[in-house]
Amino acid sequence: MQQIAIGIDLGGTQVRAALVDEKGSLIARREELTDADGGPDRILSQIRALSDELLAAVNPAGVAGIGVSAPGPIDTVSGIATSIPTLSGFVDFPLRAELQQRFPFPVSLEHDGIAAAIGEWTFGAGRGVENLIYVTVSTGIGGGVIADGRVLRGRKGMAAHIGHMSVVPDGELCPCGNRGCFEAYGSGTAFTRRARARAAECSETTLGRSGDDIHSRDVFAAARAGDALANALIDEEAEILGRGFTSLIHIFSPDMLVMGGGLSNEFDRLQPGIQAYIAQRAMPGFKDVRIVRAALGQNSGLIGAAALVFLAESVRPDAPSLVAGLR
Ligand SMILES: [Zn+2]
Repeated sequence: MQQIAIGIDLGGTQVRAALVDEKGSLIARREELTDADGGPDRILSQIRALSDELLAAVNPAGVAGIGVSAPGPIDTVSGIATSIPTLSGFVDFPLRAELQQRFPFPVSLEHDGIAAAIGEWTFGAGRGVENLIYVTVSTGIGGGVIADGRVLRGRKGMAAHIGHMSVVPDGELCPCGNRGCFEAYGSGTAFTRRARARAAECSETTLGRSGDDIHSRDVFAAARAGDALANALIDEEAEILGRGFTSLIHIFSPDMLVMGGGLSNEFDRLQPGIQAYIAQRAMPGFKDVRIVRAALGQNSGLIGAAALVFLAESVRPDAPSLVAGLR
């Protein structure tokens, strides 16, 4: 019988749910705005309601489990959320146990960055490689690492909080509370902040002239129209990302680095600058590591959450066929 899994991508803005088959195909999906101030019971009700909608159309006997991707930091070994900055009330909250109480099949819980890395590794741009770094560049910066053919989880399952590498002593304030993190310079939020500041002091740009707020897509549109400041801002962003990625490549020696998140919508414009920085600055043996776009787009985490179920299944001795199906 065809096995399917439910993937849940719990984010600060949206809760998304999907039915995913063993090949990583989305069979159906639902989403709604996260009630981020609603507290854990409300969030769990949202997850349950979206899942019930999806399950209404399928034979429950074919459902192998549910995988949940959640923002961190979460101790995924104990299943307890010590504190989730983007969701109120998740303080020392036993998230996995509470989820398990609401579903009759196995629940897997993973960090959003690691879940997305698993999605790209099993069903996306990184199929078949042994070593991969996934980096999402969006409101923040996060990621996950696959090393030697295994998911790198680290102590408490909290590995790969890539956005919080310190890159500038006493630098820009980061949402984590520290200063000078990679995220505080390379994220989409940091990019638009720079764009607003620089547009305000530049008389020869179209950016911000309409009086509307400047978003990332406006900068890329202006750049395509030949705006010099917009192009300079993007080149600078590519260099910042290149600097962070070069450190990651030196540490983990991946076969590839997969870039996802909102800014990867403009991957084609950013990639040459990132790759040029790496070619110039990385040590000789690392210069040829490719930066590739996430193949699953904005669904890396959603499909990765479902893939958790199949990975958990595949280590069971009674389910060897799933291993071949996955890898
Ligand atoms: Zn930080």
